Amino acid sequence: MEVVRSVAGIRERVLRARMGEGRTVGLVPTMGYLHEGHLSLVDRAVDLADLVVVSVFVNPLQFGEGEDLEEYPRDLERDVDLARERGAQLVFAPDVDEMYPAGEPVVTVDPGPMAEVLCGAHRPDHFRGVLTVVAKLFNIVRPDLAVFGRKDYQQAVLIERMTRDLNLPVRIEKAPVVREDDGLAMSSRNEYLSREERARAPALYRGLSEAQRRFREGERDPEALVEAFRAQLPDDPELRVQYVEVVNPETLEPVGEEEAGPDDVMAVAAFLGTTRLIDNVRLG
Ligand code: AMP
Repeated sequence: MEVVRSVAGIRERVLRARMGEGRTVGLVPTMGYLHEGHLSLVDRAVDLADLVVVSVFVNPLQFGEGEDLEEYPRDLERDVDLARERGAQLVFAPDVDEMYPAGEPVVTVDPGPMAEVLCGAHRPDHFRGVLTVVAKLFNIVRPDLAVFGRKDYQQAVLIERMTRDLNLPVRIEKAPVVREDDGLAMSSRNEYLSREERARAPALYRGLSEAQRRFREGERDPEALVEAFRAQLPDDPELRVQYVEVVNPETLEPVGEEEAGPDDVMAVAAFLGTTRLIDNVRLG
């Protein structure tokens, strides 16, 4: 296991593996503070590629004003140990100056209208920051494939779309949401929750599961499914839903008046105190 800090270093190391040794390369981009959700992506990459690179970079470009860039949890040493245990060979952990030597980039990836819904509607410029750093990582590492979690559903779909629209030669793999025993989707941000908030957090997944159950029983009206979700939430002023919507899994357009189908996705964002949580399920 090697930890590489520089762009030139990771390029050289990957090129050697790819050209010299004929190995395929898998990339797992993360912001670090790894948990089982991230590590499930490493497992998938190890299954699919010969050499697995985990990138750890808290990307300032995707944080808005007043968001948690400064507080975002970091522990590189632990991340390196965990990635190694799961079979990754390289950790790419550049600092901000290494990724953005000329300061904030002038030319960025425009994510288009699919970034104006769901999280994008509440976090302006977030997905521009995400797609820009992912495009940079793809150009730096040049992986054959990259693995993303469905936990960040809109992000995974936008990245898939970017690779298609811009002909980026990277295969995108989407991996399932990994949850705690009580259903809460794992997230580095769960770290922010107080004990009381943590106890209340599984309500989101209870709501999503109830919507799935109603769908299985034959309910097809997206509004009724959203109602079923909301009915599971406790009457709690600390838990504030930012959005909950049933959307088309590829275009992310709201299903709206139409009947919901099994592939449609119910996506939610909510604040628990000051912590923003997101989650989603496929209805069928
Ligand atoms: P992050 O470090 O939050 O930027 O996440 C890095 C990658 O891990 C993204 O592709 C996320 O979707 C994925 N990820 C984070 N949490 C989970 C989870 N609970 N289950 C599956 N994938 C996850």
